[in-house]
Amino acid sequence: MWRKAKIVMAGVCAAGVCVVPSAAGAATAPTTNTAATAQAGTQKAETNQTKTQKAETKQAGAKKSVPYCARYKCIALTFDDGPWPYTPELLDTLKKHKAKATFFLLGRKVAYRPELTRRIHEEGHDIGNHTWTHPSLTKLSDGEVIQEITSTSDIIYQTIGKMPDYMRPPNGATNARVASLMTSLGLPQIMWTGSTLDWQARDTKVIAQRTLKLAKRNGVILLHDIVPETVKAMPSVLTALEKQNYKFVTLTTLLQGRTLRPGEIYPPRGK
Ligand SMILES: [Zn+2]
Repeated sequence: MWRKAKIVMAGVCAAGVCVVPSAAGAATAPTTNTAATAQAGTQKAETNQTKTQKAETKQAGAKKSVPYCARYKCIALTFDDGPWPYTPELLDTLKKHKAKATFFLLGRKVAYRPELTRRIHEEGHDIGNHTWTHPSLTKLSDGEVIQEITSTSDIIYQTIGKMPDYMRPPNGATNARVASLMTSLGLPQIMWTGSTLDWQARDTKVIAQRTLKLAKRNGVILLHDIVPETVKAMPSVLTALEKQNYKFVTLTTLLQGRTLRPGEIYPPRGK
C-alpha cells in the first residue's frame, strides 16, 4: 500500500501539481492528507529513492504503451477467399519465417474446412469476415448484406470460438449504405494499401515482384491463398522482406493503439 501511495504521489508531483517544498508543505497546506503528510516528513531521506522509482515507473510505462509497430517496421499480409487446399502450404511457409498474417475467409468455405480454419487460428493468424458467397455487397438488399455477414461471423465463431473483429467487402465494393450496415453489425471495413492483382497475374515471379514493390511500413497487402502462384511466391517474398527488416504482423498487431469504429474503412482510402 505504501509503495503504491508513494508512486501515486510521485506521479502527482511529476504532473506539476505537487510543487510545495517539504518544510513549507505542512505549514501552508493544512488540509494535506495522511499520505502527503507522511511523505513530507520523510521526503528528504527518500528523495533519491523516489526519483529512481519515478524514472523506473516512467520507463516501464513507456515500454508498455508504445505499440509494437511504432517500434518495428511492420507489414500486414492479407490472404483472401480461403480456406482452400493451398492454404496449408502457405501456413507452413509463414511458420518457417515466424510470420503472422490475416485471412479473410468465406463462410461457405469455413463450413467445408473447419479443421483448416482452426489451424489458421491456432497458429496465431487473424481471421476476418469476407462474406458467405463473395458478392459485391453494394448490389445486395440490406437483408441480404446482413445475411452474408452474420452467417459468416456465426460459422467462424462456431469453428474457432471467436467472432471476427472486422470484415473485408468482396471486390472492395462498399458505399455509405454498406458502411452503415457494417456500423450496425459492429464491424470495421478493412481494405488495403496495395493490391497485387495476383488472381489476374497467375505468375509466381510477377506476384513476387509486385508484392515487393507494394511493400511499405504499416502497409496492408492484398493477396489470395486460392491462387497457387501466390502461395509459391511467398517464400522468396518473405525472405526478401526480412532482409529489409520487415516484421510480418496480423492486423490486430498493426492496429495496436488505434481503435477502429464499426463501419470505418481502414486504411483510409486515398484521394
Ligand atoms: Zn475476395
